[in-house]
Amino acid sequence: MDTPTEALHRVFGYDSFRAGQQEIIDHVVEGGDALVLMPTGGGKSLCYQIPALVRPGVGVVVSPLIALMQDQVDALTALGVRAGFLNSTQDFDERQRVEAAFLAGELDLLYLAPERLRVETTLRLLAKGEISLFAIDEAHCVSQWGHDFRPDYLALSELHERWPEVPRIALTATATPATHAEIASRLRLEQARHFVASFDRPNIHYRITTKNEPKRQLLDFLRTEHPGEAGIVYCLSRSSVEKIAAFLADNGIAAVPYHAGLDNRTRAAHQARFLREDGLVVVATIAFGMGIDKPDVRFVAHLDLPKSVEGYYQETGRAGRDGLPATAWMAYGLHDVVQHRRLAMEGDDAHRRRQVLHLDAMLALCETVECRRVMLLDYFGQQDSKPCGNCDTCQAPPESWDGTVPAQKVLSTVLRLRRERGQKFGVGQIADILLGKKTAKVLQHGHDSLSVFGVGADLGNTEWHGVVRQLLAQGLLAVESDYGALVLTDASADVLRGQREVRLRRDAPRVARAKTAAKD
Ligand code: ADP
Ligand code: ZN
Repeated sequence: MDTPTEALHRVFGYDSFRAGQQEIIDHVVEGGDALVLMPTGGGKSLCYQIPALVRPGVGVVVSPLIALMQDQVDALTALGVRAGFLNSTQDFDERQRVEAAFLAGELDLLYLAPERLRVETTLRLLAKGEISLFAIDEAHCVSQWGHDFRPDYLALSELHERWPEVPRIALTATATPATHAEIASRLRLEQARHFVASFDRPNIHYRITTKNEPKRQLLDFLRTEHPGEAGIVYCLSRSSVEKIAAFLADNGIAAVPYHAGLDNRTRAAHQARFLREDGLVVVATIAFGMGIDKPDVRFVAHLDLPKSVEGYYQETGRAGRDGLPATAWMAYGLHDVVQHRRLAMEGDDAHRRRQVLHLDAMLALCETVECRRVMLLDYFGQQDSKPCGNCDTCQAPPESWDGTVPAQKVLSTVLRLRRERGQKFGVGQIADILLGKKTAKVLQHGHDSLSVFGVGADLGNTEWHGVVRQLLAQGLLAVESDYGALVLTDASADVLRGQREVRLRRDAPRVARAKTAAKD
């Protein structure tokens, strides 16, 4: 049997481990449970593949990326690793063959779709073989609060009950500290060691601009900064994917569309071209990219606002995996916000609240006057990083205005609700109080008798929402629940005492006005 380092050289052909890998591998090889947070492209797969090769038995990998299992297994087979998968796309015979190989101990790795583990026959099959470890990939899918929830993941907590002695390693590229804690508790990984790799991708330059003529802006960006280079352009809808791909092609840029509405053959062909050719641009919905491993993607462009910061970071993370300079460029406008709000209105209350919070966090990133990277890293729980010098706000500080007084009004409303009434409310109620609106909810709670009632009539509803978003972004306010209840932070006190100035961004699109416009 190889040692981990021997397996790295002999099987995978790499010289050395990347940051974090060896520690994680050693821990799992020794039978420990692990929760691994590593950015996309960080090298998560080796963290379970090598232990699976080193430990006796079969490594069982749970992954939601059914479409990629064949590719993953092919890639491993090419390296001489004995791998197979079980999912719903297979016919009976194929499944039988994999099951027989598993039972005969002829596999190193077995990939499973999560729903397979809800089927008693799969569990019985696993019970008859020897399992070296369970790897739970894309572990954030267990989070009901996250953007990618899969109910089948909840059942994975049972693995521990059935196989208490088998080590489990859960991996994800997207997790805020709250999601992180949720993963640990839902997967019964309370005792697991946590490995948090730095989320920073220093070679990616971040730039977010407001959208006025999106096509021209995109074309300028591609021509001046990435001529002839490979990249991904993300759009929200299939129809804009088609339009933008055609527009780029008309302008002499090699571009192909990719979205779920295309037939399988076309999609596979476009994906294959992207991987193989130099300098192809794929214009895509977010259906494109999961698990795509192309190291030299030089840019990721967003022509519409992503749904969440998690989504944004995952999508932009596909650029520059080779460590060379790459750009994450985005143009967003108020129309995007209207569209997202409309989409968020579908579904139940809890869903709506979550979507709105995700969207607000995304807008806060767009509207920040501070370093984008600092804010992103902070969002993912890496506090106290220094301004990076490699993002637009660092390189050309945006125009800002002194928002100290409005900030004090918001914070003191939050404070008074808490101190005088023992209550917490979301941004809607705070804005209504400041604007002096006698809504049913304001009257019901007697908020019209608060001393701050009506002190904010100098700004509109839009502006108040913007102020709150930027306060959240700057850590001067926090959201406490998924109802969006606002609470003060340690830093709020300095603003309330007048010891800290608050700068707000001037060029942020006027969001609430867009809401009214949508009704026209
Ligand atoms: P993730 O799952 O974290 O997004 P992958 O496991 O797909 O990342 O790894 C990203 C890329 O880095 C792959 O091409 C992989 O082969 C490569 N890689 C991983 N570990 C190493 C290493 N120690 N040395 C060189 N390349 C590595
Ligand atoms: Zn920066």
